[in-house]
Amino acid sequence: MPRRKRHRIVTREPPVSVYKPAGIPAKELDEILVTIDEFEAIRLADFEGLSQREASVEMHISQPTFNRVLSSARGKVAKMLVQGFVLRIEGGRYVLTDGSGTLECLDCGATMDMSSEDKSTCKQCGSKRLRWLRWDKKKRESDE
Ligand SMILES: [Zn+2]
Repeated sequence: MPRRKRHRIVTREPPVSVYKPAGIPAKELDEILVTIDEFEAIRLADFEGLSQREASVEMHISQPTFNRVLSSARGKVAKMLVQGFVLRIEGGRYVLTDGSGTLECLDCGATMDMSSEDKSTCKQCGSKRLRWLRWDKKKRESDE
């Protein structure tokens, strides 16, 4: 019996941003990768000034997970500033919140898109245990 195929999750390709110290050719610099979810963590906590609790709700992840993502992001930015790395922002585990993302119910497995009115309750079973379906092409390729 063939393995059941996963839902195909289609998201827009993330924008790629690169920050580079001036005056040094990129090829002579090491590169550090900040993922889009790490970028979002910094944006919410350090730019918008949200508490970690508020920011974790925004990102639909647990507070400990948010804390881990934020710490990782801050560490990378600090390293980039102190050691003069090229900083590239792309990829990572996230869905876009422009209406193209998908939520999955951890209890019944139902999926719903971000256009549903109530993004915190499963429309099939009423569960509150929802998570973003995250798309991580590189990771999946290495997993499979
Ligand atoms: Zn459900």
